[in-house]
Amino acid sequence: MEERIYNFNPGPAVLPLPVLEEVRDNLLNYQGTGLGIMEMSHRGGAFKKIIEGAEADLRSLLSIPENYAVIFATGGATNQFSMVPMNLLRPGEQANYIISGSWAKKASEEAGKFGEVHLAASSKEEGFKRIPREISLSAQPSYLHFTSNNTIVGSQFLSEPVVPATDVPVSDLPVSGACRCPLVCDASSDALSRPLDVVKYGLIYAGAQKNLGPAGVTLVVVRKDILERCPAGLPVMMDYRTYSEHGSLYNTPPTLPIYVVGLVLKWLLKIGGLAEIKRRNEEKAALLYECIDRSGFYQAVVEKESRSRMNITFRLPSEDLEAQFVKAAEGSGFSGLKGHRSVGGIRASVYNAFPCEGVRALCSFMEEFERTKG
Ligand code: PMP
Repeated sequence: MEERIYNFNPGPAVLPLPVLEEVRDNLLNYQGTGLGIMEMSHRGGAFKKIIEGAEADLRSLLSIPENYAVIFATGGATNQFSMVPMNLLRPGEQANYIISGSWAKKASEEAGKFGEVHLAASSKEEGFKRIPREISLSAQPSYLHFTSNNTIVGSQFLSEPVVPATDVPVSDLPVSGACRCPLVCDASSDALSRPLDVVKYGLIYAGAQKNLGPAGVTLVVVRKDILERCPAGLPVMMDYRTYSEHGSLYNTPPTLPIYVVGLVLKWLLKIGGLAEIKRRNEEKAALLYECIDRSGFYQAVVEKESRSRMNITFRLPSEDLEAQFVKAAEGSGFSGLKGHRSVGGIRASVYNAFPCEGVRALCSFMEEFERTKG
Protein backbone atom coordinates (compact mmCIF):
# COMPACT_ATOMS: atom_id res chain seq x y z
CA MET A 1 0.00 0.00 0.00
CA GLU A 2 1.41 3.36 -1.03
CA GLU A 3 -0.51 5.60 1.34
CA ARG A 4 -1.29 5.65 5.04
CA ILE A 5 -4.91 4.79 5.76
CA TYR A 6 -7.30 5.89 8.51
CA ASN A 7 -6.27 3.91 11.58
CA PHE A 8 -9.09 3.32 14.09
CA ASN A 9 -7.12 0.69 16.03
CA PRO A 10 -7.71 0.65 19.81
CA GLY A 11 -4.02 0.38 20.65
CA PRO A 12 -1.30 0.30 19.55
CA ALA A 13 -2.83 3.15 17.65
CA VAL A 14 -2.29 6.05 15.31
CA LEU A 15 0.59 8.42 16.10
CA PRO A 16 1.09 11.96 14.82
CA LEU A 17 2.74 11.93 11.38
CA PRO A 18 5.36 14.59 12.24
CA VAL A 19 6.42 12.39 15.18
CA LEU A 20 6.81 9.31 12.98
CA GLU A 21 8.83 11.31 10.46
CA GLU A 22 11.15 12.59 13.15
CA VAL A 23 11.61 9.06 14.55
CA ARG A 24 12.43 7.81 11.05
CA ASP A 25 15.03 10.54 10.59
CA ASN A 26 16.72 9.75 13.90
CA LEU A 27 16.74 5.96 13.67
CA LEU A 28 20.09 5.89 11.90
CA ASN A 29 21.81 8.99 13.21
CA TYR A 30 20.33 10.80 16.20
CA GLN A 31 20.87 14.54 15.82
CA GLY A 32 24.29 14.09 14.22
CA THR A 33 25.72 11.93 17.01
CA GLY A 34 26.51 9.18 14.47
CA LEU A 35 24.44 6.72 16.55
CA GLY A 36 20.87 5.66 15.97
CA ILE A 37 18.38 6.43 18.72
CA MET A 38 18.09 2.73 19.67
CA GLU A 39 21.85 2.29 19.80
CA MET A 40 22.73 4.89 22.42
CA SER A 41 23.49 4.21 26.08
CA HIS A 42 20.70 4.98 28.51
CA ARG A 43 23.41 6.47 30.76
CA GLY A 44 24.72 8.85 28.10
CA GLY A 45 24.11 12.58 27.88
CA ALA A 46 21.85 12.41 24.82
CA PHE A 47 19.38 9.98 26.41
CA LYS A 48 19.49 11.82 29.73
CA LYS A 49 18.32 14.92 27.88
CA ILE A 50 15.54 12.91 26.22
CA ILE A 51 14.11 11.42 29.42
CA GLU A 52 14.47 14.63 31.41
CA GLY A 53 12.88 16.59 28.57
CA ALA A 54 9.97 14.16 28.41
CA GLU A 55 9.37 14.52 32.14
CA ALA A 56 9.59 18.32 31.95
CA ASP A 57 7.13 18.45 29.03
CA LEU A 58 4.70 16.12 30.81
CA ARG A 59 4.91 18.32 33.92
CA SER A 60 4.24 21.37 31.83
CA LEU A 61 1.27 19.87 29.93
CA LEU A 62 -0.45 18.58 33.07
CA SER A 63 0.84 21.25 35.50
CA ILE A 64 2.23 18.47 37.69
CA PRO A 65 3.38 19.95 41.01
CA GLU A 66 6.77 19.22 42.59
CA ASN A 67 5.26 16.92 45.21
CA TYR A 68 4.45 14.37 42.50
CA ALA A 69 6.97 11.96 40.97
CA VAL A 70 6.91 11.07 37.28
CA ILE A 71 7.92 7.49 36.51
CA PHE A 72 8.58 5.66 33.24
CA ALA A 73 7.83 1.99 33.95
CA THR A 74 7.46 -1.17 31.89
CA GLY A 75 5.08 -4.13 31.97
CA GLY A 76 2.12 -2.21 30.57
CA ALA A 77 -0.91 -1.04 32.49
CA THR A 78 -1.41 -4.66 33.51
CA ASN A 79 1.71 -4.55 35.64
CA GLN A 80 0.25 -1.52 37.40
CA PHE A 81 -2.73 -3.70 38.36
CA SER A 82 -0.23 -5.48 40.65
CA MET A 83 2.07 -2.59 41.57
CA VAL A 84 -0.77 -0.40 42.87
CA PRO A 85 -1.94 -2.84 45.57
CA MET A 86 1.59 -4.04 46.34
CA ASN A 87 2.63 -0.46 47.13
CA LEU A 88 -0.60 1.12 48.40
CA LEU A 89 -2.78 -1.52 50.05
CA ARG A 90 -1.99 -1.65 53.75
CA PRO A 91 -2.87 -4.35 56.30
CA GLY A 92 -6.29 -3.85 57.86
CA GLU A 93 -7.41 -1.59 54.99
CA GLN A 94 -9.31 -2.27 51.79
CA ALA A 95 -8.53 -1.60 48.14
CA ASN A 96 -11.67 0.06 46.72
CA TYR A 97 -12.50 -0.44 43.04
CA ILE A 98 -15.10 1.05 40.71
CA ILE A 99 -15.91 -1.61 38.15
CA SER A 100 -16.82 0.23 34.95
CA GLY A 101 -15.49 -2.36 32.52
CA SER A 102 -13.33 -5.42 31.96
CA TRP A 103 -10.03 -3.66 32.61
CA ALA A 104 -11.27 -2.33 35.93
CA LYS A 105 -12.44 -5.83 36.82
CA LYS A 106 -9.05 -7.26 35.95
CA ALA A 107 -7.35 -4.61 38.08
CA SER A 108 -9.57 -5.45 41.07
CA GLU A 109 -8.98 -9.18 40.67
CA GLU A 110 -5.25 -8.60 40.74
CA ALA A 111 -5.58 -6.51 43.91
CA GLY A 112 -7.39 -9.45 45.52
CA LYS A 113 -4.09 -11.35 45.47
CA PHE A 114 -2.57 -8.82 47.84
CA GLY A 115 -5.32 -8.08 50.34
CA GLU A 116 -8.95 -7.18 50.84
CA VAL A 117 -10.88 -5.67 47.93
CA HIS A 118 -14.10 -3.68 48.25
CA LEU A 119 -16.34 -3.09 45.22
CA ALA A 120 -17.19 0.58 45.62
CA ALA A 121 -19.46 0.63 42.55
CA SER A 122 -20.17 -1.42 39.46
CA SER A 123 -22.11 -1.20 36.20
CA LYS A 124 -21.47 -4.82 35.29
CA GLU A 125 -25.19 -5.64 35.52
CA GLU A 126 -25.82 -3.05 32.78
CA GLY A 127 -23.13 -4.54 30.56
CA PHE A 128 -20.91 -1.54 31.41
CA LYS A 129 -23.08 0.64 29.18
CA ARG A 130 -22.97 3.46 31.69
CA ILE A 131 -20.50 4.82 34.20
CA PRO A 132 -21.41 3.68 37.74
CA ARG A 133 -22.66 6.59 39.81
CA GLU A 134 -23.43 5.27 43.27
CA ILE A 135 -20.13 4.92 45.06
CA SER A 136 -19.74 3.57 48.57
CA LEU A 137 -16.34 3.31 50.16
CA SER A 138 -15.30 0.66 52.65
CA ALA A 139 -14.59 1.53 56.29
CA GLN A 140 -10.81 1.87 55.91
CA PRO A 141 -10.00 2.43 52.26
CA SER A 142 -6.34 2.45 51.24
CA TYR A 143 -7.31 3.95 47.90
CA LEU A 144 -10.13 4.20 45.37
CA HIS A 145 -9.24 2.91 41.90
CA PHE A 146 -11.16 3.78 38.76
CA THR A 147 -10.59 3.38 35.02
CA SER A 148 -11.22 6.76 33.43
CA ASN A 149 -12.04 5.34 30.00
CA ASN A 150 -13.50 1.93 29.33
CA THR A 151 -11.71 1.05 26.08
CA ILE A 152 -13.80 -2.01 25.28
CA VAL A 153 -17.42 -0.91 25.67
CA GLY A 154 -16.68 2.79 25.07
CA SER A 155 -17.69 4.63 28.23
CA GLN A 156 -15.78 7.37 30.02
CA PHE A 157 -15.80 9.29 33.29
CA LEU A 158 -16.27 12.91 32.20
CA SER A 159 -15.02 14.03 35.62
CA GLU A 160 -13.55 12.38 38.70
CA PRO A 161 -15.87 10.13 40.73
CA VAL A 162 -17.56 11.71 43.74
CA VAL A 163 -19.23 10.09 46.71
CA PRO A 164 -22.87 11.20 46.22
CA ALA A 165 -23.87 11.41 49.87
CA THR A 166 -21.31 14.11 50.53
CA ASP A 167 -20.69 15.55 47.07
CA VAL A 168 -17.06 15.71 48.06
CA PRO A 169 -14.44 14.47 45.61
CA VAL A 170 -13.16 11.17 46.93
CA SER A 171 -9.61 12.46 47.11
CA ASP A 172 -10.67 15.10 49.66
CA LEU A 173 -12.35 12.71 52.08
CA PRO A 174 -10.46 12.38 55.34
CA VAL A 175 -9.92 8.72 56.10
CA SER A 176 -8.23 6.98 59.03
CA GLY A 177 -6.72 9.88 60.90
CA ALA A 178 -4.48 12.22 58.99
CA CYS A 179 -4.25 10.13 55.83
CA ARG A 180 -6.63 10.66 52.94
CA CYS A 181 -8.09 8.08 50.58
CA PRO A 182 -6.10 8.64 47.42
CA LEU A 183 -7.79 8.42 44.05
CA VAL A 184 -5.94 6.02 41.73
CA CYS A 185 -6.68 6.15 38.02
CA ASP A 186 -5.98 3.83 35.13
CA ALA A 187 -5.93 6.45 32.37
CA SER A 188 -4.49 4.13 29.73
CA SER A 189 -7.02 4.96 27.04
CA ASP A 190 -7.66 8.67 27.63
CA ALA A 191 -4.45 10.04 29.16
CA LEU A 192 -3.59 13.51 27.84
CA SER A 193 -6.83 13.69 25.85
CA ARG A 194 -8.03 16.62 28.01
CA PRO A 195 -6.80 18.78 30.88
CA LEU A 196 -6.66 16.99 34.22
CA ASP A 197 -6.45 18.34 37.75
CA VAL A 198 -3.54 16.21 38.92
CA VAL A 199 -3.82 17.32 42.54
CA LYS A 200 -7.11 15.45 42.84
CA TYR A 201 -5.19 12.19 42.32
CA GLY A 202 -2.87 10.11 44.40
CA LEU A 203 -1.64 8.08 41.45
CA ILE A 204 -2.33 8.04 37.71
CA TYR A 205 -0.99 5.41 35.34
CA ALA A 206 -1.27 4.87 31.61
CA GLY A 207 0.20 2.42 29.13
CA ALA A 208 1.59 4.51 26.27
CA GLN A 209 0.22 2.72 23.25
CA LYS A 210 -3.00 4.68 22.73
CA ASN A 211 -2.46 8.41 23.21
CA LEU A 212 1.16 8.68 24.27
CA GLY A 213 3.41 6.65 21.99
CA PRO A 214 4.38 3.07 21.23
CA ALA A 215 3.79 0.05 23.47
CA GLY A 216 6.59 -0.66 25.92
CA VAL A 217 6.47 2.20 28.39
CA THR A 218 3.93 3.06 31.07
CA LEU A 219 3.67 6.52 32.59
CA VAL A 220 3.01 6.81 36.32
CA VAL A 221 2.41 10.07 38.17
CA VAL A 222 2.32 9.59 41.92
CA ARG A 223 2.16 11.86 44.97
CA LYS A 224 5.45 11.57 46.83
CA ASP A 225 3.97 11.24 50.34
CA ILE A 226 2.21 8.07 49.17
CA LEU A 227 5.60 6.58 48.29
CA GLU A 228 6.82 7.23 51.83
CA ARG A 229 4.15 4.87 53.13
CA CYS A 230 4.88 1.93 50.80
CA PRO A 231 5.98 -1.27 52.51
CA ALA A 232 9.64 -2.27 52.64
CA GLY A 233 10.92 -5.41 50.95
CA LEU A 234 9.01 -5.26 47.66
CA PRO A 235 10.67 -6.84 44.60
CA VAL A 236 12.89 -4.12 43.24
CA MET A 237 11.06 -3.55 39.95
CA MET A 238 7.65 -3.64 41.65
CA ASP A 239 8.57 -0.83 44.07
CA TYR A 240 7.68 2.69 42.87
CA ARG A 241 10.57 4.09 44.90
CA THR A 242 13.09 2.24 42.72
CA TYR A 243 11.90 4.36 39.80
CA SER A 244 11.42 7.65 41.64
CA GLU A 245 14.79 7.50 43.39
CA HIS A 246 16.71 6.69 40.19
CA GLY A 247 14.92 8.87 37.66
CA SER A 248 13.48 5.69 36.07
CA LEU A 249 17.07 4.63 35.29
CA TYR A 250 17.67 1.92 37.90
CA ASN A 251 17.84 -0.60 35.06
CA THR A 252 17.75 -0.15 31.28
CA PRO A 253 14.48 1.59 30.46
CA PRO A 254 12.67 1.23 27.12
CA THR A 255 14.71 3.96 25.45
CA LEU A 256 12.98 4.03 22.06
CA PRO A 257 9.40 4.22 23.45
CA ILE A 258 10.47 6.95 25.90
CA TYR A 259 12.02 8.91 23.04
CA VAL A 260 8.80 8.63 21.01
CA VAL A 261 6.64 9.61 24.00
CA GLY A 262 8.87 12.66 24.37
CA LEU A 263 8.18 13.63 20.76
CA VAL A 264 4.43 13.12 21.21
CA LEU A 265 4.53 15.42 24.26
CA LYS A 266 6.34 18.08 22.21
CA TRP A 267 3.73 17.69 19.48
CA LEU A 268 0.96 18.21 22.04
CA LEU A 269 2.64 21.36 23.36
CA LYS A 270 3.11 22.66 19.83
CA ILE A 271 -0.52 22.26 18.78
CA GLY A 272 -1.74 24.16 21.85
CA GLY A 273 -1.67 21.71 24.76
CA LEU A 274 -4.48 19.81 26.43
CA ALA A 275 -7.18 22.46 25.95
CA GLU A 276 -6.70 22.26 22.19
CA ILE A 277 -6.55 18.46 22.09
CA LYS A 278 -9.74 18.33 24.17
CA ARG A 279 -11.43 20.64 21.65
CA ARG A 280 -10.32 18.42 18.77
CA ASN A 281 -11.39 15.22 20.54
CA GLU A 282 -14.81 16.64 21.38
CA GLU A 283 -15.31 17.77 17.81
CA LYS A 284 -14.46 14.31 16.43
CA ALA A 285 -16.66 12.49 18.94
CA ALA A 286 -19.60 14.85 18.40
CA LEU A 287 -19.43 14.35 14.62
CA LEU A 288 -19.47 10.58 14.90
CA TYR A 289 -22.14 10.33 17.62
CA GLU A 290 -24.35 12.73 15.61
CA CYS A 291 -23.92 10.53 12.56
CA ILE A 292 -24.91 7.45 14.61
CA ASP A 293 -27.81 9.11 16.42
CA ARG A 294 -29.47 10.62 13.37
CA SER A 295 -29.63 7.24 11.64
CA GLY A 296 -32.09 4.55 12.63
CA PHE A 297 -29.66 1.99 11.26
CA TYR A 298 -26.71 2.46 13.62
CA GLN A 299 -27.25 2.21 17.39
CA ALA A 300 -24.82 3.68 19.90
CA VAL A 301 -23.92 1.14 22.61
CA VAL A 302 -23.40 3.46 25.58
CA GLU A 303 -25.95 5.78 27.19
CA LYS A 304 -25.45 9.45 26.31
CA GLU A 305 -23.98 10.82 29.56
CA SER A 306 -21.35 8.08 29.74
CA ARG A 307 -20.10 8.04 26.16
CA SER A 308 -16.38 7.92 25.50
CA ARG A 309 -14.68 10.50 23.32
CA MET A 310 -11.91 8.02 22.58
CA ASN A 311 -13.64 4.72 21.72
CA ILE A 312 -16.95 5.18 19.95
CA THR A 313 -18.99 1.99 19.81
CA PHE A 314 -22.10 1.14 17.85
CA ARG A 315 -24.09 -1.75 16.49
CA LEU A 316 -25.76 -2.52 13.18
CA PRO A 317 -29.04 -4.42 12.90
CA SER A 318 -27.27 -7.82 12.65
CA GLU A 319 -23.86 -9.40 13.16
CA ASP A 320 -23.84 -10.30 9.51
CA LEU A 321 -24.22 -6.63 8.55
CA GLU A 322 -21.48 -5.75 11.04
CA ALA A 323 -19.11 -8.20 9.36
CA GLN A 324 -20.00 -6.71 5.96
CA PHE A 325 -19.47 -3.20 7.34
CA VAL A 326 -15.98 -4.01 8.67
CA LYS A 327 -14.99 -5.66 5.39
CA ALA A 328 -16.32 -2.82 3.23
CA ALA A 329 -14.65 -0.28 5.53
CA GLU A 330 -11.28 -2.07 5.20
CA GLY A 331 -11.72 -1.94 1.44
CA SER A 332 -12.32 1.81 1.62
CA GLY A 333 -9.23 2.59 3.72
CA PHE A 334 -10.63 2.45 7.29
CA SER A 335 -8.70 0.03 9.47
CA GLY A 336 -9.37 -1.35 12.97
CA LEU A 337 -13.14 -0.87 13.27
CA LYS A 338 -14.04 -4.35 14.49
CA GLY A 339 -15.30 -4.25 18.08
CA HIS A 340 -13.45 -6.02 20.90
CA ARG A 341 -13.78 -9.79 20.62
CA SER A 342 -15.59 -9.97 23.98
CA VAL A 343 -18.45 -7.66 22.94
CA GLY A 344 -18.59 -7.57 19.14
CA GLY A 345 -20.09 -4.65 17.22
CA ILE A 346 -18.10 -1.74 15.83
CA ARG A 347 -15.57 0.40 17.68
CA ALA A 348 -13.97 3.52 16.23
CA SER A 349 -11.00 4.55 18.36
CA VAL A 350 -10.29 8.20 17.71
CA TYR A 351 -7.34 8.97 19.95
CA ASN A 352 -5.46 12.28 20.01
CA ALA A 353 -3.57 11.77 16.76
CA PHE A 354 -6.61 10.63 14.78
CA PRO A 355 -7.50 13.37 12.29
CA CYS A 356 -10.93 14.98 12.09
CA GLU A 357 -10.95 14.42 8.28
CA GLY A 358 -10.88 10.68 9.04
CA VAL A 359 -14.04 10.97 11.12
CA ARG A 360 -15.75 13.00 8.39
CA ALA A 361 -14.73 10.38 5.83
CA LEU A 362 -16.07 7.58 8.05
CA CYS A 363 -19.40 9.42 8.45
CA SER A 364 -19.74 9.67 4.65
CA PHE A 365 -18.88 5.98 4.34
CA MET A 366 -21.50 5.11 6.99
CA GLU A 367 -24.19 7.14 5.22
CA GLU A 368 -23.42 5.40 1.96
CA PHE A 369 -23.39 1.95 3.62
CA GLU A 370 -26.77 2.66 5.20
CA ARG A 371 -28.14 3.87 1.86
CA THR A 372 -27.17 0.62 0.14
CA LYS A 373 -27.81 -1.87 2.96
CA GLY A 374 -30.31 -0.16 5.24
N1 PMP B 1 -6.36 -0.59 31.05
C1 PMP B 1 -7.03 -0.14 29.98
C2 PMP B 1 -8.09 0.91 30.17
C3 PMP B 1 -6.74 -0.62 28.71
O1 PMP B 1 -7.42 -0.18 27.65
C4 PMP B 1 -5.73 -1.61 28.55
C5 PMP B 1 -5.32 -2.15 27.20
N2 PMP B 1 -6.14 -2.01 26.17
C6 PMP B 1 -5.08 -2.06 29.69
C7 PMP B 1 -5.40 -1.53 30.92
C8 PMP B 1 -3.99 -3.11 29.60
O2 PMP B 1 -2.88 -2.49 29.09
P1 PMP B 1 -1.51 -3.24 28.76
O3 PMP B 1 -1.78 -4.06 27.55
O4 PMP B 1 -0.58 -2.08 28.50
O5 PMP B 1 -1.11 -4.03 29.94
